[in-house]
Amino acid sequence: MKAPPVLPGSTEPAPSPSTAMREPTALKMGANRWNVVLVSAVACAVLLALALLWRFEPQGQIFFPRCTFHQVTGLLCPGCGGLRATHALLHGDIRSAWRLNPLFVALLPVGAYCFGAWAIQRMTGRRLPQPLEFRHLWVVVLVLILGFCIVRNG
Ligand SMILES: [Zn+2]
Repeated sequence: MKAPPVLPGSTEPAPSPSTAMREPTALKMGANRWNVVLVSAVACAVLLALALLWRFEPQGQIFFPRCTFHQVTGLLCPGCGGLRATHALLHGDIRSAWRLNPLFVALLPVGAYCFGAWAIQRMTGRRLPQPLEFRHLWVVVLVLILGFCIVRNG
């Protein structure tokens, strides 16, 4: 077997090609492990929140957050009714969910896709298009939210 070459000005042999090839892969694997932990932790938190929302009606429960904007102003913010809408959706009551917060229900598939694309990118490195990366779409979403807020309080 041939000895590894010694770099000029160094007493240590240069890393063999097989070692040089392994290190980036090992770093990538370590990064992937932490990404899997991160995605798993976020998914567990979401599932726990959904389990609580499935089990308990948000109205009247002290452990669900109250809307500070509604408490201060008496107006409905764009997110008001989102927890109750999720509770209704988890029980298959789409009509009630839509009545409580139609914008939230309409944007749920977009949110689910964004989470899925983020999770796939974190765990595999494969990049899927993220809708909110497009600046013009942000403008549309902000106009939608503002218009919804005005209409539901009108
Ligand atoms: Zn609110």
